[in-house]
Amino acid sequence: MNRILDIQDIDFEKIKRFHRDFYYTDIYDKLHSKEIKCKNPKLKDYYSYLKENLEDILISEPDKLELLKKTIENIKQEIPFSHRNKILKSLTKTKSKLDDKISKIFDYDRFVRSYLPSWGAYKFTQLLKINTCPYCNRQYVFTFDRADIAKQSGLKNVRLKDIKGKIRPELDHFYSQKDFPYFRLSVFNLVPSCHICNSNLKGRMEFDNEKFINPYHQSFHSILRFSVIPYKRKELEKKINDGIIDKEVKDFFGAELFNGNLDSFKIKLKVQKTNNITSENVKKALNNNEIFAIRELYNFHKDYVAEIIQKSIVYGESSIADIYDKHPNLFKIEKDVGRFLLGNYVDEDEIHKRPLSKLTIDVAKEFGIL
Ligand SMILES: [Zn+2]
Repeated sequence: MNRILDIQDIDFEKIKRFHRDFYYTDIYDKLHSKEIKCKNPKLKDYYSYLKENLEDILISEPDKLELLKKTIENIKQEIPFSHRNKILKSLTKTKSKLDDKISKIFDYDRFVRSYLPSWGAYKFTQLLKINTCPYCNRQYVFTFDRADIAKQSGLKNVRLKDIKGKIRPELDHFYSQKDFPYFRLSVFNLVPSCHICNSNLKGRMEFDNEKFINPYHQSFHSILRFSVIPYKRKELEKKINDGIIDKEVKDFFGAELFNGNLDSFKIKLKVQKTNNITSENVKKALNNNEIFAIRELYNFHKDYVAEIIQKSIVYGESSIADIYDKHPNLFKIEKDVGRFLLGNYVDEDEIHKRPLSKLTIDVAKEFGIL
């Protein structure tokens, strides 16, 4: 939920170099051979544009991808219908034959095949070093290959070929593969994400930088924050009348915001308090919230929120500095005390390192410990 391009540990230059070296010549040649074979000038323009801008298509950053998309789509619209589509037998249906050809050239299936030794999806996610899904910050998304680990540790009595199992995040195509097949292999179109966000929730939803937060490009965290909201009396009365909440919650309510009772509050999203947030960015973040069911899913983590509230109130603002002073050799830096007390990363730049760290930071700030 922090911007991936801001993460210091990731060597993006290395990733771009590997990716370019592996794909550029191969795809360039394929586009070139299509270009010289086609007779229609508009179709020729299309292949030629893809070919001439291939390096940018493969490795340019999100802003540039959005511009490329607009230009490519304009050129594509100029191509006569019959050169783009194939009319199927039923006559009422068509198939995009041009998109099929482009999909084969930008061969994502080859990228995900695990046996590629030099460059592929595993190597890519390994270099990205993202521990959690950037859309939700709820799930771990580690990359590892058991055979690699066994090789390094020099396991005896185990045949390497018997060791199976590779794990990596799913790669979400921010711009869908179906509608934008020329971006199937664009580095900054491949978002390492969890199965829930990529497959269960987003699916084939059409995304673009103007309507949604692309985690490579923008930080959801810097726009919206989680906030703890006590239930309104009316809602509470209704819940008590409906028998959903025990009557004794009523006694807690009003006396204190929180009494360890998970039914006394809910989690909402609010706009961060910083000044420079545009309404356009708020809309985008709210769109992400809707697609990935952020608010709804975070309300399943109220037990975790309760602990943050308790810790924030028990330890208070001065605790971090006090503990750090008392144990000068136990912590590397002062903010590590915050991590120790709250059980999670408390630095905004480290949100990607552990699930629910954004939630921890937002609630702890609201309750004054950070
Ligand atoms: Zn996710």
